[in-house]
Amino acid sequence: MPSERRLNPINKSMGRIAAAVILLQFLVAAFVLAQESPGAEPAEETTAQKLAGKYGWPYVAGHKGLSRQEIFFPLVRGLQVIKADLHIHTIYSDGQVLPETRVWEAWRDGLDLMVITDHPEYLKLALPQDRERAYGRALPLARALGLMLVRGAELTTLSGPTYKDEDSDHVVAFIQDESPFFGDFDTAVRSARDQGAVIIWAHPGSRWVRDATRLLKLGWLDGIELRNGGRKGGKGIGYHRGEPYFSEVMDWCLDHDLAVIASSDAHWPIDQMVDRGRGERREMTLVLAERRGETSIREAIKARRTLAYFGEMIWGREEWLRALAESSLRFSVTPSIQENRKRHFLSVANSSSFPFRMKVSRAGDESAAGLREVRIAERGRTVAPVSVKEGETGVRLVITVTNLLSGADRPLILERRLQVPGGPP
Ligand SMILES: [Zn+2]
Repeated sequence: MPSERRLNPINKSMGRIAAAVILLQFLVAAFVLAQESPGAEPAEETTAQKLAGKYGWPYVAGHKGLSRQEIFFPLVRGLQVIKADLHIHTIYSDGQVLPETRVWEAWRDGLDLMVITDHPEYLKLALPQDRERAYGRALPLARALGLMLVRGAELTTLSGPTYKDEDSDHVVAFIQDESPFFGDFDTAVRSARDQGAVIIWAHPGSRWVRDATRLLKLGWLDGIELRNGGRKGGKGIGYHRGEPYFSEVMDWCLDHDLAVIASSDAHWPIDQMVDRGRGERREMTLVLAERRGETSIREAIKARRTLAYFGEMIWGREEWLRALAESSLRFSVTPSIQENRKRHFLSVANSSSFPFRMKVSRAGDESAAGLREVRIAERGRTVAPVSVKEGETGVRLVITVTNLLSGADRPLILERRLQVPGGPP
């Protein structure tokens, strides 16, 4: 029958489909059983998993040739000189560098302490989106290297209702909990304050004095950046000895008793900001702390015992500049080694890793203006000619340390009365 002949192929194909469905269900059930069975073979480990098991993940082993350049300062009135970068970014906000790489850089560059200060408002933009992990990821490596790692954040006033200045960013350091920082600015700063955080005005811009005064009156402000490694020009920037810095800040710090700060604010690798091949060092804050520990360092910043170190200069309160110079330098007059016994030398021994620069004149000598600047070698001795008159047994010297500054026109001045020894026999 034609009709039967037409139906038969359909019945056959329906049967095949049904058989295939049953077979597929059987295979799926067998696969599930195989997965659940305790004796089943585990899925084969990938090469990446094997390597992660062997070397750890994230893979952060340092290059074998990487070395640390220690930056040495002797005790300053019994206080330790802690080298710190209090403002730095990673891929967890708008930085381009892994947290672990930041730790290696800081260790290599001779720092003792680093604060990772990623922006909370990047939480939903940055990859990976786990904010906690910037600090958490970096911590084991920091501990292994003996670098103090401190929890921080950079808060911006853009999210807050009170302040509307495009340049008003604040670094908070030594915080316990970041969760209150994901809302508006005032709540965030108040919370940071409640947590005992150090609050630093980052890269002051055009209207910073007005807003800083407001924060100061609330008792919320601890310090301001005199130098920010990311700002080489623009609003508020002046230059001293060819180095950019926020030229209004030093006087403001002194007038309002705030800590002076220098930070890298690095978003890029440090080597893209600093030419280490030419001996340049990254900017850092020197903190004069009673002990080498987070609590002591936080208290030292609160007590304003900081100096800003950048571009072969150290800026800060005159009292601490003087103490630093006096602990690092030893002066003496050495006899001439030449036939002419009138020729004497000032010998300066520098026990620190900082190249002090100075102009030396005799007290009351009017010709001092044209003096050449002498660079005092790090951890070594430098001699420079000094004029001694016939029969003199002592000289009074005025030593202008041109790269220790409490203001652009306020280099540190030391006065020394030194004995003049006899010449060679
Ligand atoms: Zn920043």
